[in-house]
Amino acid sequence: MQLTPHPFQRLGAHAAAALSGRDHPADLINSDLDALVDTIAQAAGAAATAVKGGRYWAWQQKLAPMYPNSPPTAPRRAEFQAKGHEPAEQVRDLLGPDDTTDDDVCLACGAPAGVRWGKSLWPLTDSARYINNSPGRKGGYPACRQCRIALWCLPWAVAYGKGRITSIEGPEDIEARFVRRMTDLSTTALHQQWTDWSHAPDVWDTIADLLTDQPSDVTLNTWTNDNKAPQLKQRHIPYGPAHWLSRISARGYLPHLKALLQQAKGNPHLLHLVITDTGLDSWSAGASSGAESITRAVTTIWDEDDQAPSHARTPADHVQIYARIAFSRALADDEMDAVDTELAAFPAHHHKPWPVPLPR
Ligand SMILES: [Zn+2]
Repeated sequence: MQLTPHPFQRLGAHAAAALSGRDHPADLINSDLDALVDTIAQAAGAAATAVKGGRYWAWQQKLAPMYPNSPPTAPRRAEFQAKGHEPAEQVRDLLGPDDTTDDDVCLACGAPAGVRWGKSLWPLTDSARYINNSPGRKGGYPACRQCRIALWCLPWAVAYGKGRITSIEGPEDIEARFVRRMTDLSTTALHQQWTDWSHAPDVWDTIADLLTDQPSDVTLNTWTNDNKAPQLKQRHIPYGPAHWLSRISARGYLPHLKALLQQAKGNPHLLHLVITDTGLDSWSAGASSGAESITRAVTTIWDEDDQAPSHARTPADHVQIYARIAFSRALADDEMDAVDTELAAFPAHHHKPWPVPLPR
């Protein structure tokens, strides 16, 4: 299985490798693909028959915003099942061999593809009945078998919370490490027949962990594709701020910063310090961006000290002021010199896209 330019295909391919005990998607063999179809179909079958709050309901929650009106998530699935349409068998059929008599090519990888998928099967695409955007205006998007399987491994590769999915885009090794963690969690959720995701770690903690360990330029995608309009919110963390976070962590300053964040208004997360912009954003206009959260947090602290952050103009300024207060409360004067060196290294205009393109 190759890694394509399509971010969901890539994450699914890494999950396929993890589920098959392979180091890399390229190592997958044909029998792995057949075993993956069994795994996907079994999980889909369990999710389809789950009752709200009962065994496997967590998996139903995760599938619903990804594959609306598909065999395991359709509101009338129980009725269809009573007529002999088993969701697990339908999913198995969806992931079957290509009929390549057509001259279509897979949207993700360019291989011959005889099947077209729309919104219900390929997350964040539009309806297969809406032909205007589709290649050749035939409705849906061509998908080869390998990419179809990758797209249905996606639930293992991402996080779920409050009806939304969080996925990541970045360099290959960060995507792979994120997916390994998510696949372990997803496998546990299925094995233990989770009823919800209350035992799952906060995905932002996971991402902060990965970035402090290995600074990288990443985009976080939070999205849903349920029966209403699809929604996507993108947040960008450039390499520079991620690297700064990593150095702060290596110096042992992270606990001070986290302690202050806990006191701040709006409960900003550590990642709010390094998220620099929001891209395509279809959430409500009232949703606060990272910069706004930090502005509020800084203002709260300065209110306490009866001062105003009058020279804070950019998110980078806010981070500097904010972090300096946090550290000055916790550290001795001589230690503060080292902190000031770290803060001075924080990219001054990191709200603009970082100018170093990373290889895909
Ligand atoms: Zn393909």
